[in-house]
Amino acid sequence: MLRKAVFPGSFDPFTIGHESIVRRALSLFDEIIIAIGKNTNKKDFYPVEKREEWIAEVFADVDKICVAGYEGMTVDYCNSINAGFLLRGLRTAMDFEYERAIAQVNKELEHNIESVFLLTTPEYTHINSSIVRDILRQGGNARPFLPGSEALKDKIINYTHS
Ligand code: ADP
Repeated sequence: MLRKAVFPGSFDPFTIGHESIVRRALSLFDEIIIAIGKNTNKKDFYPVEKREEWIAEVFADVDKICVAGYEGMTVDYCNSINAGFLLRGLRTAMDFEYERAIAQVNKELEHNIESVFLLTTPEYTHINSSIVRDILRQGGNARPFLPGSEALKDKIINYTHS
C-alpha cells in the first residue's frame, strides 16, 4: 500500500517554511499531495489557481509531489484520494495546541488517518504566510521568504501589484 500524505493548508502564499516541511517529509512518504483548502474562513489573497501553479513550479523536479485544491472536510478529501496520512508543520507551542485539537477531532472522525507532525527547523520558525503576505502587499522585499527560482519570485511579486 502506497504511503500517501496530504499536506493541507491555505498556502497564501507558500513560503520556504512550507517547502522545507514538504522536502523533509519526502523520505517518509511515497506521495505527498499539497492540498489547498478552498473553504476556510480566511479571505483569499491569491486565487487558488495561482497558488497551485506557483507551488507546482517549486516542485516541478519532484515526481512524488503533486498539488491540488479541495473543498470540504480534510479527512473526506484524504479518503477520496486514499491518503492515509495528514502532514502538518509545528512552529510553536501555539501551533501545537491548535494542531492537537484538529488532529484529535480528525482521528475521531476518521480512525484510519494518522496525523504526522514535523517540527520546523529553527531558521524557519518565524516565517508565516500572513507576514509574508503583508510584506508583498506593502511592496517590501519578500524574496528571502518565497521558495523557488528568482523568475518564480518575480512572477509572484509582479502578480501582487498587477
Ligand atoms: P493553515 O491555514 O491550515 O494554517 P498554512 O498555510 O498557514 O495553513 O500552513 C499549513 C501548514 O504549514 C501548517 O501545518 C503550518 O503549521 C505549517 N507551516 C506554516 N508555516 C511554516 C513554517 N514557517 N515552518 C514550518 N511549517 C509551517
